Amino acid sequence: EYTGMSKEHIMEIRSKNINPMTSKITYYKKPVFIHQGHMQWLWDMDGRRYLDLFAGVATVAVGHCHPKVTAAVEKQLKKLWHTTNIYVNAPLHEYCEKLASHLPDPLKVIYLTNSGSEANDLAMLMARIHTGNYDIITFRGSYHGGSQQTMGLTSQSSYKYPIATSSGCTHTMCPDVFRGPWGGSHCRDSPVQTIRQCSCAQGQCMANEQYIGQLKETFAASVPSRVAGFFGEPIQGMGGAVQYPKNYFKEAYKLVREKGGVCIADEVQTGFGRTGTHFWGFQGYGILPDIVTMAKGIGNGFPMAAVVTTPEIAASFAKAYHFNTFGGNSVACAVGSAVLDAIREDGLQQNCHHVGTYLMTELAKLRDKHKIIGDVRGKGLQIGVEMVKDKTSREPLCPQAMMEIFEDVKDMGVLIGKGGLYGQTFRIQPPMCITTADVDFFLAVFDKAIHNYMDRQ
Ligand code: PMP
Repeated sequence: EYTGMSKEHIMEIRSKNINPMTSKITYYKKPVFIHQGHMQWLWDMDGRRYLDLFAGVATVAVGHCHPKVTAAVEKQLKKLWHTTNIYVNAPLHEYCEKLASHLPDPLKVIYLTNSGSEANDLAMLMARIHTGNYDIITFRGSYHGGSQQTMGLTSQSSYKYPIATSSGCTHTMCPDVFRGPWGGSHCRDSPVQTIRQCSCAQGQCMANEQYIGQLKETFAASVPSRVAGFFGEPIQGMGGAVQYPKNYFKEAYKLVREKGGVCIADEVQTGFGRTGTHFWGFQGYGILPDIVTMAKGIGNGFPMAAVVTTPEIAASFAKAYHFNTFGGNSVACAVGSAVLDAIREDGLQQNCHHVGTYLMTELAKLRDKHKIIGDVRGKGLQIGVEMVKDKTSREPLCPQAMMEIFEDVKDMGVLIGKGGLYGQTFRIQPPMCITTADVDFFLAVFDKAIHNYMDRQ
C-alpha cells in the first residue's frame, strides 16, 4: 500500500508547479496514479495492478525495474557517477564497444546524448555540416522531437509552436497504405494484411511507385537541387505505427543520395529488437542509413540517447568540438550495457517477433469482427490499431469515442497508447517481455471495451 503523498496533494502540485500542458494531460479522465513497476506490470497508489502495453511510450524496453539492469545501476552508483568524459573511464568504452557491435559496418562512431530530441538535433547538424547542404526531408505525421530545431522536422501540428523552427525542413507525403490514397494488402511488411484491396501487380507494388512519385515531386517543388538529408522512422511511432510499402525506403535513400543528402533512421521507437525480425527497424527494409538516432528503449527509462554514424561523417563533423556534459555519463553507460545484455539473455527480440505476431494475428480477427477497427498493423511489438467510423469511408473514429474505449480498457486493467494525426490509432508498444497470456488478457479486455462502446450507441 502507498503511504506517501495524497492524490489531492499531487494534483494540487500538478496544477501549480508543473508545465501546465503536462498537468492538463493526465492521459485519462480519471488519472492513474502510478506507484511501482515490475517488468510488464504497474501498480497504482491503491495497489491496483495494470498490464502496461505502452511502456512509457515504448521506452521501458526490457521491463520495469528489470532486476539485472537495477543491479547494474546499483553497482555503478557506488563506484562512479560522472566525469563528463574529460577523463578516460571504462564504463563509457565498454558500452560504446557493445553498442557498436549491434550495428552494421560502417556505422561505428557513437555520440551519446540525453534525449531523442537532442540526438535528432545533432543528426540534423551532422547532415548539414557533412554535406554542406541545408534542406532536410521527412514524412508528414512524423515526430522527431520538441526542441526548436527538431520541431521543424516533426510534422504533427499539436506539437508545433507558431514560431520559426528550423527552416529548410520539408514534409513529403507519408506513404501510408491504409489512410493514404494508394496501397492496401501486400504492400507492407506485416504479419497481417490490410482490409484494403490494392491494385498491385504480382511482385510490383504500384503504391510504392506512387508514393516515390510524391517524393520526386517534393524535390521538384520544395527543395533546392541538393539536400542535406532525409529522416525516417522505420515504423512511425507517434504517427500511429504507420508502415510504408516494402521498397519505399530503398528507393527513397537512392534518390536522396543522388541529391547529395545523407539518410537518417530515427530508431527512437523501433530500435533494440522491438520489430522482432531485426535488432533495428531499418534492417527490415534491407537498407543502410548513414546516421542512426536512438533513445527511449536504449536506457529502459533512464535518460540517455545516441547518434551513431560512419567514420567519414564523424570526420567531417570534427570541424568543431561537440561537447555534452551528461552524454556518456557513467551510470547511463552501465544502464545501457545492462539493457543490451538483458535483450540478449532474455531473448527479447525473438519474444517481440513471437508475441507480436500472435497479437497482430488475433487483433486482425477482432478487426474482421468489429466495424470500427479499420486497420491492424506493425511488426513485432510496434503495433497500431486504427479505429474508423466505418471500413468503407475509413473516416477516423472521433476523439470522444476513442477516449471512451481507451478509458474503459484502462478501467479493466490494461494501459495502451494513442496516436495518429487525428488521434485515431491505439498504440501497443509494451515492454518487450510480455507473454501470450498477457496478450489473451488484453484481447478479452479490448473486445469487451468495443462491445461496451457499441452497446452505448
Ligand atoms: N523520435 C521519435 C520517433 C520519438 O517518438 C520521440 C519521442 N516521442 C523523439 C524522437 C524525441 O525523443 P525525446 O522525447 O527523448 O526528446
